[in-house]
This record gives sequence, structure tokens and C-alpha cells, in this order.
Amino acid sequence: MTEQLIDDFGRRVNYVRISVTDRCDFRCVYCMSEEMTFLPRAQVLTLEELAMVARAFTELGVEKIRLTGGEPLVRKGIEQLVDEIGTLPGLNDFTMTTNGAGLRQHARQLVNGGLRRLNISLDSLDPVRFKQLTRTGDLAKVIDGIHAAKEAGFERIKLNAVILKGRNEDEVLDLVDFARQEGLDISFIEEMPLGEVSDHSRAETFYSSDDVRALIEARYPLTPTTDTTPGPSRYFKMADSDSRIGFISPHSHNFCDTCNRVRVTVEGRLLLCLGNEHSVDLRAVLRRHPGDMQALKTAIIKALPLKPERHYFTTDGDIQVVRFMNMTGG
Ligand code: SAM
Ligand code: SF4
Repeated sequence: MTEQLIDDFGRRVNYVRISVTDRCDFRCVYCMSEEMTFLPRAQVLTLEELAMVARAFTELGVEKIRLTGGEPLVRKGIEQLVDEIGTLPGLNDFTMTTNGAGLRQHARQLVNGGLRRLNISLDSLDPVRFKQLTRTGDLAKVIDGIHAAKEAGFERIKLNAVILKGRNEDEVLDLVDFARQEGLDISFIEEMPLGEVSDHSRAETFYSSDDVRALIEARYPLTPTTDTTPGPSRYFKMADSDSRIGFISPHSHNFCDTCNRVRVTVEGRLLLCLGNEHSVDLRAVLRRHPGDMQALKTAIIKALPLKPERHYFTTDGDIQVVRFMNMTGG
């Protein structure tokens, strides 16, 4: 029988998000500061170490892996890593979160390697505003990347939009219409207080999922779907479209009691909860016992009791977690 990861609150961990790089070609205002110092290469897990971590988790009953970052598509060798993870037994959901800019170049190879689903971040459909929000991003390239992903044949593509008050809440309906036209799902994300950003005060820009939902319902009444996923997302349908609308609301809807996930940072720190600092250094285990799968699995099993019962994010702008999202993996 496969070993399973069950924490002290009876929650089974079957989903891991692995950050494959802290680097990115964008500098989104809610994610990074303008001037970022990235990690020295030696501190970042190698492709072999990343593959080994993925294998250890699947051997411990994890069925779903998401690759994230930073921007996963700027990591050299990402296609090899996808090829390797794509063949792991027991994995039935393999996905990536990307800013989309590299998809024209990579989409087909990712599908060939076994990646089944994609989340693509898109916060604005206005090129000038897109540039302001991402600081370096080119909207046309991302839209082209979305089209490349559709052509490559992913099973499902979802857009992710972070909504900030005063910055892009007036685009909520345009983003929904874009998702409908393109036949994609879309999730709206509340900004999380991860890392100190220079661009804005988080308390001023907080815009709740309930407010986003009210904007959408003025045009498209929403009905809850039955396909609920454990975690922070809630999904809804519109009467006349296959596109699903999701809300990811760490602030306004506490989702911790069904949390089924853990994260591995780009430095190999196993994070038991996005909103807390509890972690275990898997890189140290990997480098102390090279190639020793049992040592790695034992370290993961031993870490599980550190998974806290819940997070304590607030919307008053306090920074509770000093990690940036690009380190954590969104
Ligand atoms: N670079 C990829 C991308 O942008 O999709 C993957 C990494 S990014 C950190 C993952 C997701 O986290 C993106 O959808 C991004 O919009 C979101 N994100 C980043 N910082 C955030 C924050 N402070 N609050 C909420 N979401 C955030
Ligand atoms: Fe890069 Fe993604 Fe962070 Fe934007 S949200 S800066 S694309 S890692």
C-alpha cells in the first residue's frame, strides 16, 4: 500500500506546489519590488533535485503537482523536468502556473511532456495598464501565448486575475467576457500580504472576492458548481457559457479546514502553510544524502505534524509573512 501524508488534523496532503525558480521576466506590482535580488544558483534546487522531490511526493500518495515560481518558463531545462515528472506513476493532475509570455515557445513541448492543465495570469486587457501592473510585461505576447496554449491542446486552461482596488477592478467584466470568448475558465484572486511591495499599500488596494462577484452578477447570474476543489477556490457557472468562474479568497473565506496542499520553495524549503513560516529544509537532506529517496521521504513524513491548523491573514495591510510570492510559489 502507498504511504500517505496525513497531518495532525486528519487532512490528507495529496497536492504539492513546487517552485522551480525565483526569477521572472515580469515584476508584477503585487508580487515583486522593482529591484529584486535573486538567489545565488547554488541555493536553488537543481533539476535533478526538483525531479527527486516530485518523485518522493508521488511515492507518498501525492496525485497532483503544480509547477510554479517565479516564472517557470524562464527556468533552463523546464521541458526536461516536465518530461520527467510527467511519467511519474500515481500522478493524475499535472499543471503549471505561468505568466504566459513564454507559451508560444514552450506550449507544445509541455503538452508532449505530460502537462495537462495551465493557469495563466492575466490582470488587464489594456496594454498600457498591463505594462503598469507587470512593469515589464507585453500584453500582446501573453495573448499570443494564450492562443498558443489553446492550439497545443491542454485539457483545461484557466486565467488568474489579481484584482486591486483602483487599479483594475473596472476590468472584471471585460476579463470575464474575454474568458467566455476564448472558452477558458477564470479565477479572481484576492491580493495576499506576502512580502513588502514598494508600489502600493495593501490595505488601500484590497478588493474582496464578494465585491468582484457582485460586479459579475450584475451581468451574469452565477450558480455554484458541484465540482468543488479542496482549498481556497470556489467555482461558479454562468447560464450560457462553459467557462467557470472561480474566486480565490484567502481573506474573506477561510479554507484551512480542507487544505490538502503543501509547497516546496525554490530553495527546497517544504512549507506546510502559505500563511505561516513552519518549514523543513529538504535541500539539506538532498545534499547530505544525495540520491537517497528514503531519507527524503522520511524528512517529508516527519515534517507533516508541523502543518498548522490555519493561517491568520488580515486585510489591514500588516505584513505577516516576509517571503515574496515568487519565492513561495503562488
Ligand atoms: N509567474 C507565474 C504567474 O504569474 O502566473 C507563476 C508564479 S505567480 C507568483 C503565481 C500567481 O500568484 C499569479 O497568478 C500571481 O498573480 C499570483 N500572485 C503573486 N503575488 C500575489 C499576491 N501578493 N497576492 C495574491 N496573488 C499573488
Ligand atoms: Fe513574475 Fe508571476 Fe510574480 Fe508576476 S506574479 S512577477 S509573473 S512571478
